[in-house]
Amino acid sequence: ITFDEILRFWAAERPNGAALEQDGRITDFGELEELSRRIIALFRSRGVAKGDRIAWFGKNSDLYCMLYMAAARYGVVMVPIGWRLAPPEVAYILQDTGAKLVFCGEEFLETATKVANVVPASPEVIHAEQARSLVASCDPAEFEPAGEDDPVLQLYTSGTTGNPKGAVLTNANLLGLRNHALEADLPWNYFEPSDCMLVAMPCAHIGGTGLINISIAGGIRALVQAEFTPVGVLEAIENGATHMFIVPAALQMVVQHPRAPETDFSHLKYLMYGAAPMPLELLKESVRTMPNAGFLQAYGMTETSGTISILPPEDHELAGNDRMRSAGKAVPGVEIQVRGPENTELPRGEIGEVCIHSPSNTPGYWKLPQATAQTIDEGGWLHTGDAAFMDDDGYIYIQDRIKDMIISGGENVYPAEVESAIYGHPAVAEVAVIGVPSERWGEEVKACVVAKPGTECDPGDIIAWTRERIAPFKVPKSIDVIPEMPRNPSGKILRRELRKPYWEGQERQVS
Ligand code: ATP
Ligand code: MG
Repeated sequence: ITFDEILRFWAAERPNGAALEQDGRITDFGELEELSRRIIALFRSRGVAKGDRIAWFGKNSDLYCMLYMAAARYGVVMVPIGWRLAPPEVAYILQDTGAKLVFCGEEFLETATKVANVVPASPEVIHAEQARSLVASCDPAEFEPAGEDDPVLQLYTSGTTGNPKGAVLTNANLLGLRNHALEADLPWNYFEPSDCMLVAMPCAHIGGTGLINISIAGGIRALVQAEFTPVGVLEAIENGATHMFIVPAALQMVVQHPRAPETDFSHLKYLMYGAAPMPLELLKESVRTMPNAGFLQAYGMTETSGTISILPPEDHELAGNDRMRSAGKAVPGVEIQVRGPENTELPRGEIGEVCIHSPSNTPGYWKLPQATAQTIDEGGWLHTGDAAFMDDDGYIYIQDRIKDMIISGGENVYPAEVESAIYGHPAVAEVAVIGVPSERWGEEVKACVVAKPGTECDPGDIIAWTRERIAPFKVPKSIDVIPEMPRNPSGKILRRELRKPYWEGQERQVS
């Protein structure tokens, strides 16, 4: 299945059905089909051919979605670049990809132009308004559509554990598991024509662009918001958004927003969360805030085109439910194994590395053959770098990233579990747990906390609170109160930044 087939299908089936909406501007499937052919004509007029790369540098935009669809139909590779990145980081991606054309939001024209001028290819920069009028003046192209195995999207990983890597994704990767046009297997995948997908997470990440794939494949409306704001999400839900994806840090801002208690959440059918560990207390608070929404946890990564396992709504019962700590079961078509150091499957219940076999796995990282070989083994299994165990029913329990695991006095401590225990403390707004060097223990557990506004964090009190909830060897030996949590643009905590001052001049061993 390809985006070309999907778009032609919906343009015939639902020509007047809304495909994209932003700031009240609606593009229906008929228009999207035609606009994407006009954009292909624009690509050709600029000498952009199949297999070439183009970039989008800007906030979320319906224009980005149109350009992406055109690229995907034609076999040009779209590279969305996070607008929060610093100019040298943008330059790195432009240079790495050799993008032929850069489309940008008007407010980023100056930066985009400066950056484009310093990379060897000096790509042409076209800002959004200019792009819209150029597209309108092009005639819709007739063209040979891209095939299933042609790359159409290059998404950079979030850069949580190191430098972002460009994951190359094909039509089949992006649509293979999500062929909603022709079948509906999971409740999350079954859409009514009137459903509306809120796209508020950044499109430079799979949590943003992945939703565009799902809504286009499902023939429903994507409500595109330029950037995430808690009020924007609350308003979108009141105005009829039925499906959304959100990361835990953003969900916290939504449910704790002063307007949340008086918000009508009744339109929201499904709230999917994931991309980072979800503190249990926050999850329970969210379920209480939106009792009618079906909660789904998604576990996935850029390299797998998004979701590979789902914890369905029925596992979100509040009373005495341990399943709420799980990231759920493999979605149909995906195989998940927890593997040990010998690269063989471990018995259920034992912690090892999550490995994935899936039609949605990337063929590899762009220009990084070594990283590709380290990640995808000879059997085609993708090694996630995440530690987890699987129970007898096939539910996986993500512990944390292997690189972040703390070995303290010979015991393995997973920071996410400690963070989840500390999270409910009344004075703590945010928490991150790291390993710091210790003469006695090798590494010891430290928690870095941000206090809730108007409260003070007392380290002794937080340690006592944690001791009541988890085993003694997992309890932090020390607490740092910090003014702000370092996060990357996808909202993930950068533990490597927090670790840095403690490890100066020392190499941290990772298993
Ligand atoms: P980089 O690979 O550059 O270090 P990253 O891994 O954060 O960055 P992404 O591809 O955006 O980049 O994120 C995938 C990772 O996010 C997973 O490997 C996992 O560690 C984490 N993750 C995703 N979903 C969940 C979840 N439901 N629970 C816990 N962690 C999750
Ligand atoms: Mg990763």
